[in-house]
Amino acid sequence: MTRAQTPKPQPEAPRRRGLMLILSSPSGAGKSTLTRALKEDNRQDLLLSISVTTREKRPSEVNNVHYTFISEADFGVMRDRGELIEWAEVHGNFYGTPLKPIEAALAAGQDVLFDIDYQGTRQIVQRMRADTVTVFILPPSMAELKNRLDRRAEDSDAVIAKRLTNARTEIARWVDYDYVLINDNLDRTYDELRSILAAERLKRERQTGLGAFVDALLAEG
Ligand code: ADP
Ligand code: 5GP
Repeated sequence: MTRAQTPKPQPEAPRRRGLMLILSSPSGAGKSTLTRALKEDNRQDLLLSISVTTREKRPSEVNNVHYTFISEADFGVMRDRGELIEWAEVHGNFYGTPLKPIEAALAAGQDVLFDIDYQGTRQIVQRMRADTVTVFILPPSMAELKNRLDRRAEDSDAVIAKRLTNARTEIARWVDYDYVLINDNLDRTYDELRSILAAERLKRERQTGLGAFVDALLAEG
């Protein structure tokens, strides 16, 4: 005998709010390389936060792709209007993260990737701790850090010298981060980063739809 069955509501896969994956390091340790690799890996589905900066564009950079390059006056206007979620002066230039695109992305469940310094990280963590995952990238040695800055060959000697001096202050902030990776082998560091992201996406606290899912699960006959 067949009985007419009322279709039972299927448990819906839990939805979650987007998270903010923040990478910091002293200049030259490799965070732009890692950021690019994560961004280009479509399976990771990450939106890259594009900062505004008053620094000179490097030859290899594209406006509105790597940064939005703006004047100090325009930076001041954005900052004073509260349009930046965080901002900082780094190596003598201003950098900041526009707030609006981030809010929209997180609300839509989109994870966002940030390449920002420790001052900006601190500001975002203070405002939105529950949404953040912070990762600090260390170089394997100071000598290798200098080699990488030299090999990148996009900054003048004076700029490289300034960045190396500042590296010591930046490295001292490693204690503020959730995860710390030593970027000796790029492939291994990238794998570690992907593992962090995968695990953080699955954290119970982020699965806002989990309660409803479990209710539906338990309601099944
Ligand atoms: P950051 O964004 O931290 O300033 P970059 O990502 O621009 O640093 O890296 C600086 C230089 O070091 C680049 O030329 C990059 O190709 C190189 N690099 C990055 N990671 C490694 C690594 N694990 N081994 C060797 N070279 C690396
Ligand atoms: P670079 O000039 O090499 O691109 O970046 C210099 C430093 O500024 C890096 O440590 C980078 O992470 C940081 N930075 C880039 N964008 C931002 C930003 O929007 N806010 C903050 N606080 N730091 C940033």
